[in-house]
Amino acid sequence: MPEYGVFAKTIKIERAGGKNMSKIQMTTPLVEMDGDEMTRILWQMIKDELLCPYIDLKTEYYDLGLEHRNETNDQVTVDSAEATKKYGVAVKCATITPNAARMTEYNLKEMWKSPNGTIRAALDGTVFRAPIVVKGIEPCVKNWEKPITLARHAYGDVYKNVEIKVPGAGKAELVFTGEDGEEIRETIHNFTAPGIIQGIHNTDKSIASFARACFNYALDTKQDLWFATKDTISKKYDHNFKDIFQEIYEKEYDARFKEAGIEYFYTLIDDAVARVMKAKGGFIWACKNYDGDVMSDMVSSAFGSLAMMTSVLVSPSGVYEYEAAHGAVQRHYYKHLKGEETSTNSVATIFAWTGALRKRGELDDIGELCTFADRLEAATLQTIEDGKMTKDLALITSLKDVTVLNSENFIKEIRKTLERLMAE
Ligand code: NAP
Ligand code: MG
Repeated sequence: MPEYGVFAKTIKIERAGGKNMSKIQMTTPLVEMDGDEMTRILWQMIKDELLCPYIDLKTEYYDLGLEHRNETNDQVTVDSAEATKKYGVAVKCATITPNAARMTEYNLKEMWKSPNGTIRAALDGTVFRAPIVVKGIEPCVKNWEKPITLARHAYGDVYKNVEIKVPGAGKAELVFTGEDGEEIRETIHNFTAPGIIQGIHNTDKSIASFARACFNYALDTKQDLWFATKDTISKKYDHNFKDIFQEIYEKEYDARFKEAGIEYFYTLIDDAVARVMKAKGGFIWACKNYDGDVMSDMVSSAFGSLAMMTSVLVSPSGVYEYEAAHGAVQRHYYKHLKGEETSTNSVATIFAWTGALRKRGELDDIGELCTFADRLEAATLQTIEDGKMTKDLALITSLKDVTVLNSENFIKEIRKTLERLMAE
């Protein structure tokens, strides 16, 4: 984005203590998507305590809180996705996906669609989920030393299926009628009694987008990429996924992977599952839609906590949207509203910010922004390793003598650690 220039300026500001402290300057704004409930509270605290004191934070702000989505007939969500396409990097707070109860609670004009669904459709993206690994919160699988990032294809298959409950004897066929009227016809089954049938589909275009998003992300993060399907049984459907990945890999990525010292590895889904359990981690596991749905829940729960899981949506055109994998933490928010103390974990939301700031720093060539992101992540992990954490982590940690902090004090402790790391 040349109109913003590429060189960051550092402005020296005098602090009360007399110590010189420089705020990092940004050139291109981040697209900031604010959200709902407890995560909205954490969002503001993170900005006030951990970002604004150190960065001259430049964002284009979109309020995706449910009230504002309702006021704008959800136009704000569409606008925020368009802005993400324009600037290239967004950071998103968790948002409420309305259901019947929310219709009454917020007096909604309509049951607005999931913002994540709207943004995903606009960016045609693939979602990568990675656990935040920290000493003291050990994965259930003891040989997992590094994070396993799961990439889930988000289009088609069983999620866009057509099903029939077969009432009795008869013939089930699969028929494709081309625009020219040409037919392709296969017998599925000759039923002699009641049963069930299902039709599923995918498109070469969507599979190719998914493949490129995975290859790009592997290069970006310098990790091996694994992909698996059941192509030995599904000789056309799943085989098509395998072929498209292979063709794109050979044509566009083979040389770049070799240069980066990483590998693309294809295997059968059952072999992949067995290998994942024995692996050390440190790779990306690309999954078809259903496999990704199931396996991401397994991988994330085995790594410890949903509150320690980041999520990034990557579009084939190289646009990034960072967020926490968890929701708006409604139950904690109601406690907060009653004036009760909460101990809500802000780690994944902090990492959404650091992911976005680091990417912005890389794109705009602002090394200081990347260094700051690294430091804030290090400070967050160090705070936990020092035994200071929120309640959800205290319940599962292997560390002894931990201090359970409330939402605000946890963020304040991270700030203290950050100051210490920056002074070193
Ligand atoms: P949730 O917000 O992820 O919370 C479920 C439970 O997980 C919480 O009640 C809490 O358990 C625990 N938890 C999650 N995040 C935590 C954190 N940061 N710190 C501590 N504990 C945490 O899921 P939900 O309650 O099903 O959904 C709430 C709202 O979020 C819904 O309106 C939903 O639509 C929305 N949502 C949004 C997104 C998104 O924007 N990406 C994703 C999922 C859900 P305890 O109560 O036992 O402490
Ligand atoms: Mg699931």
